Amino acid sequence: MKNCLIISLITSGLIFLSAASLYAESDVIKLENLDHQNNSLLKSLRDDVKKTLFTIKSRRSDSNLPELKFYSYKVKPGENFWVVLSKCSMDMDTLMTVNGLTSPFQVVPGTVLYIPNMRGVVLPGEKKKEIYQVLAYEKIDIRYVRTVNKSSDLDKKFIFIPCGKISGVERSMFLGTAFLSPVREGRTTSGFGTRKNPFNSRKMEFHKGIDIGVPIGTKIHASRSGRVVFSGYEDGYGKLVILEHEFGYRSYYGHLSRGLVKEGDVVGPGQVIALSGNTGRSTGPHLHFEIRKNGQSMNPFTYIKRVHTVR
Ligand SMILES: [Zn+2]
Repeated sequence: MKNCLIISLITSGLIFLSAASLYAESDVIKLENLDHQNNSLLKSLRDDVKKTLFTIKSRRSDSNLPELKFYSYKVKPGENFWVVLSKCSMDMDTLMTVNGLTSPFQVVPGTVLYIPNMRGVVLPGEKKKEIYQVLAYEKIDIRYVRTVNKSSDLDKKFIFIPCGKISGVERSMFLGTAFLSPVREGRTTSGFGTRKNPFNSRKMEFHKGIDIGVPIGTKIHASRSGRVVFSGYEDGYGKLVILEHEFGYRSYYGHLSRGLVKEGDVVGPGQVIALSGNTGRSTGPHLHFEIRKNGQSMNPFTYIKRVHTVR
């Protein structure tokens, strides 16, 4: 699926360009800081958020709505997702969908966030069914959506739904409460991100998942319910099982000795799907575990850090 909102990744942080699809980049207003004093831009942003909520919730005329605007803000040392959220009167769903975030932990000092002047969610315009679902669920009159997007037939690439929300399941995936540890016990032997190539220590490489040292034959559990989309041999990964979950999430289990599921199988959370091994490009018995969203590798620790058995 080509609806990934994250377009590019640079070392200093993630750059999110989905807002640019809603609004020309040149028109994005740069917010220098989030200090409440003498900050007319931040004040105007917060006032617009309030005005929009009031107008839509009390079903006032759409002529009371402010024009949809986007601010950009580079996160400063000491700040994180939650700080930006509260200082800008935003909610989680808004910052998450506008910036294509898959976890609050992605937001670190240096990350550039796009912040709209109203709460709501962004959906691809082609996903009409989802758009109407959000409207029905949140009881939002479609006229507000037409006004905000300046489009009577909503045929734009991305549609901003003012006061729209994401589903509870999607929120729990975002908050990292939706995935289980794939092993009952084990020690992390290699983390996520840039590391020395284990076969050639002079080279650096990007590790797309985490390695958990476990003896060959250890039971591997499905991290979440899903459907098996691959069970076989893949260069590098050795024996590999890939599960597909909701909202574009996939989990990968590599270097297995045996897969216990086949493509098309539907598995429950925690179900044993394979036995660990040392196949493929592996320097010793371990499980290689990845979580991806829309093809992009995520840090699995942001999803499974609460599981005490993985250290
Ligand atoms: Zn690995």
